[in-house]
Amino acid sequence: MTELRDLNTSGYSPDWCPGCGNFGILTALKRALVQLKLNPKDVLVVAGIGCSSKLPQWINTFGFHGVHGRGLPVGMGAKIANKKLHVIVIGGDGDVFGEGMNHFIHSLRKNINVTLLVHDNQIYGLTKGQTSPTTMHGDKTSSSPGGNMDDPINPIALAVAQRTSYVARSFSGDMDHLTNTIADAIAFKGFAFVDIFQVCVSFNKHNTFPWFKERIYDLQKKGYKPDNQEKAFKKSLEGWDKIPIGVFYKEEKPLYEEEHPVLKRTPLVKQKIDNISIKKLMDKFC
Ligand code: SF4
Repeated sequence: MTELRDLNTSGYSPDWCPGCGNFGILTALKRALVQLKLNPKDVLVVAGIGCSSKLPQWINTFGFHGVHGRGLPVGMGAKIANKKLHVIVIGGDGDVFGEGMNHFIHSLRKNINVTLLVHDNQIYGLTKGQTSPTTMHGDKTSSSPGGNMDDPINPIALAVAQRTSYVARSFSGDMDHLTNTIADAIAFKGFAFVDIFQVCVSFNKHNTFPWFKERIYDLQKKGYKPDNQEKAFKKSLEGWDKIPIGVFYKEEKPLYEEEHPVLKRTPLVKQKIDNISIKKLMDKFC
């Protein structure tokens, strides 16, 4: 059985700022993998670039630290090659909704069984506090000293509008909610997106821990059921006086990797390639 200590990396500690919400997300992810009794060798954690994207270095699973905004295509490619792997893609709000927005939108409409966890701290932290796609209107940042003139992206509304199979939000400061949401998202059969509000203690002085604590409420504790797209869309527009967390929308749909005529037979990595001539292939392209 997997225990928390099996997921720790020896000799390396995260270099995040003390008090950063990334610590909570890393711990919750480890706890979720233990809760699901997943063997670390069956898990791949893929990330792009940013403070959050350093996470694969500090969890003892397979990992891949890629380029900016490209965690999703790498993760989806890995899942297509080996559908038995549990693939978790990590990114920040800048990485996923800025540099990687194109991949985000298209991943919402392909139902590949991958879990996307966005560490949404509403700022570019690694590069010292520039405005990100989810920075609130009017917030002063190092790149918008007079206040952000743009409206923030609403990633939950985008995902619900696309009828994404699993759409949830959680908070790095609520360990039980976050652990259970991540575990539920990983266990869900289909593309699962969790937007995680995360405090950046160094550069986001507006969306702080007390700011979230005052506003956040649990959808499921209020009896909300995530089975209606219209209701979910309406709920996704709520904020900022009250911020709902929990599962907004859930719907089981056919999986890409189970419908595709080649992929559905066996994982690509297990398929025989003896009859493929690499030389002929190379000659064709060279
Ligand atoms: Fe965390 Fe912000 Fe520090 Fe990055 S800059 S490690 S997001 S507190």
